[in-house]
Amino acid sequence: MVKTSVLFLIKQKSRSEGNMMTQCRICGATLSPPDYSAAAPAITSISTNLAIPTETYICRNCGHGQSPDLPKIQEFYDTQYRISLQSDQHDQLYVVRDGQPVFRTQRQAEMLGAIGLPLNARVLDFGAAKGTTLRSLLESRPDLRPSTFDVSDDYIGFWQGWVPASEQATHCLPAEWQGRFDLVTAHFVLEHVVDPIGTLKRLAELLAPGGKVFFTVPDPLSNTGDFLVVDHVNHFTASSLMRTCELAGLVAHTLSRELFRGAYVVIAEQAAVSASSSGGLQTDVGSDITQALDALAFWAKALGSLDADQHVEAHVPTAIYGAGFYGALITSRLHQKPLCFLDRNKYLQGQDYLGVAVLAPEDCPDSIRRIYPGLNPLHARAILADAETWMPPAAKIHYLADQ
Ligand SMILES: [Zn+2]
Repeated sequence: MVKTSVLFLIKQKSRSEGNMMTQCRICGATLSPPDYSAAAPAITSISTNLAIPTETYICRNCGHGQSPDLPKIQEFYDTQYRISLQSDQHDQLYVVRDGQPVFRTQRQAEMLGAIGLPLNARVLDFGAAKGTTLRSLLESRPDLRPSTFDVSDDYIGFWQGWVPASEQATHCLPAEWQGRFDLVTAHFVLEHVVDPIGTLKRLAELLAPGGKVFFTVPDPLSNTGDFLVVDHVNHFTASSLMRTCELAGLVAHTLSRELFRGAYVVIAEQAAVSASSSGGLQTDVGSDITQALDALAFWAKALGSLDADQHVEAHVPTAIYGAGFYGALITSRLHQKPLCFLDRNKYLQGQDYLGVAVLAPEDCPDSIRRIYPGLNPLHARAILADAETWMPPAAKIHYLADQ
């Protein structure tokens, strides 16, 4: 998931001391030693490598997953992250529906459209970047009054002509924006920030009476590679999301894993105006903790077996099925680059990914002997069920661990 707009949030004080995390960012409980740790390189959300180790901790009290603050974090967001945003749109593809691509921002706009906002509602896109989601929403709801905020001046040009100048802000939230908005959105922001409760509190303060905060964060239990993404310093579970909202003075009325694939969608309002204190949503912290620990154990074993493979047979012609995050994760652990990526996504075929050609599975070279699934391990076997129809006869799929 790609998001730029977090620079000033990341500058906030962190509770971590040195590189060793001692306290949960959400509930403040004392943390055990890391539940997952791996030597460099670490993998980022934009599929680049950083020369630092990966550590993930699971809080035994609230179920939150977290990783240490990035060293040189500002440099990462200033340079690598922005470059990625200016590149191709293919990583923004959400789904192909009836033969038509649906991009991430379109899906986000669809979800906002379904909220049922009142006529002429004021909507703030916090961390707007180009503001594509809000602009897309305005196509179906031209009555809405848009505002945009980001921590970079780079995007101002994209807001001209559809956001009034008085409704644009960068770096600092204007004082007059307090208590003003019917809806504040934050798409894929909170996983990056070292103070998610403080950030959410700020958003809550911007709400008019009856206003709502809408935010999305990755769901690491359905997309377990998220636990290893080094610039996602938070890996929320349902339990830790509910606790985060509560500590920010919000009540979540919607906490969905179905609305947006691979993510939690949260809609919350101020606790002071909410009719119920819990929002009626129940979470199972014990189950969240168990699932998170199982996922981390899986990855420790899977990436360990990958390493063992290389020591046994280093120079086997190798392909990776899946030119996305998981493909990059596997690649980061190989001793040499794969010969090609294979991918069903026709928007990727014919392109390069990490400097390696992406081919349709049917075009897999006959020389390939080993294929690693660069796929969400929860779906890899189903996705590769038809592999017999295209795989070279001498090739073999090496599933990671017991996926
Ligand atoms: Zn905690």
